[in-house]
Amino acid sequence: MTQVEVVTIGDELLLGFTVDTNAAHLARALAGIGMHIERRTTVGDDPAEIEHVVREALERSGAVITTGGLGPTSDDLTRQSIAGVFGRGMHLDEAHLAWMEERWRRRFDRPLPAANRQQAMIPDGAEKLENRHGSAPGIWLEDERGRWVAMLPGVPREMRGMLADTLLPRLVQRTTAGIVVRSTTLRTTGIGESALADQIDSMGGGPLGVSLAYLPSIAGVDLRLTVKDVPPAEADALLARAAARLRARVGQAMYGEDDADLAAVVLEACRTRKLTIAVAESCTGGLLGARLTAIPGSSDVVLGGVIAYANSVKRDLLGVREESLREHGAVSEPVVREMAAGARRVTGASVGLAITGVAGPSGGTPDKPVGTVWIAADVEGAVEARLHKLWGDRDEIRQRAAQWTMELLRQRLRA
Ligand code: ATP
Ligand code: MG
Repeated sequence: MTQVEVVTIGDELLLGFTVDTNAAHLARALAGIGMHIERRTTVGDDPAEIEHVVREALERSGAVITTGGLGPTSDDLTRQSIAGVFGRGMHLDEAHLAWMEERWRRRFDRPLPAANRQQAMIPDGAEKLENRHGSAPGIWLEDERGRWVAMLPGVPREMRGMLADTLLPRLVQRTTAGIVVRSTTLRTTGIGESALADQIDSMGGGPLGVSLAYLPSIAGVDLRLTVKDVPPAEADALLARAAARLRARVGQAMYGEDDADLAAVVLEACRTRKLTIAVAESCTGGLLGARLTAIPGSSDVVLGGVIAYANSVKRDLLGVREESLREHGAVSEPVVREMAAGARRVTGASVGLAITGVAGPSGGTPDKPVGTVWIAADVEGAVEARLHKLWGDRDEIRQRAAQWTMELLRQRLRA
């Protein structure tokens, strides 16, 4: 039993007001225990539709997970509809009703609304899946042939909680072989998707033995390695071997694994070298400072910075020379170098990071088009500046500029 179908329920999913993150979360979580989602379907809050779709899914795969429609309101129809698929009636679960009444008294200090009684109605022969994150129980319904439907709540936090606490452990017990799907992500930045692919394709040593996906984003290109249908120990060994080969090939551009954040990587590199950071930002308007300070514990490295949007601020607060601004313009190498040095001087930080550029959509000129960004890193007095021609809209340019600046520092500290 490694195949399962997912049915997500709710009008708002069909209308596009809610993005179906439950299905994506389920797919990832189930892959981790070796289950494949064979098909997924979305239906509205329509009992006939729910019954129809779940019946078909059950006939195909014998294993179905639904989310949504377990709540107390009249559009919450999942329980009754699926009881219909199994030809079962409904009954009031006294224990659950008592639990809800108690919960209301304790948490809200008032009696249980009549509507919530509905949530204690469960199909005959069903098992409850404990919900520590809300009031509706999840429901497990299984027939004589071992075919089952697990009903989870729609609210993502409740759904994830119940999945982790109750349903996954139950499914792990039912699967025997211990076959898994595992993946590792190697995060790169500063190199394009096709350049990466060229390097990897021309790598000797035979096939990687795992599947490889290129996932580009503003942060850079992630390389996701996946192995399927093997026991856990073998999966880990295959992944480790493939990751090591890729690291040897494109490791220069790699800053971390899985959900690593370049800001956290750079902060850690500074921390081990006992360096502190200050920023001087023009076109990014504080984005770099925000990226760095979003990381918990950043206060031992980040001292502060200056949002030097106007030339007068570059000059008066950071000490950028009037002459540099006049002769080279605000977006220029001399100015970005002086900004980085100025950030160090005014804060006493060991590292000054600076960004000045044209984020657009207006303000571009023929020799400094939109996307022209100068960045600099002053590490204890040694300044390195780089010119980037970034693409994208204003938001993307600003985000890329912040990412590139952190990458510049990462490279300098690695050397
Ligand atoms: P409730 O007790 O809140 O009514 P429920 O189990 O009946 O919970 P729904 O009413 O279907 O769940 O959905 C509640 C909310 O959860 C929706 O308004 C929506 O914001 C969110 N939600 C529902 N399904 C999904 C989904 N597949 N992906 C992401 N969010 C969802
Ligand atoms: Mg609801």
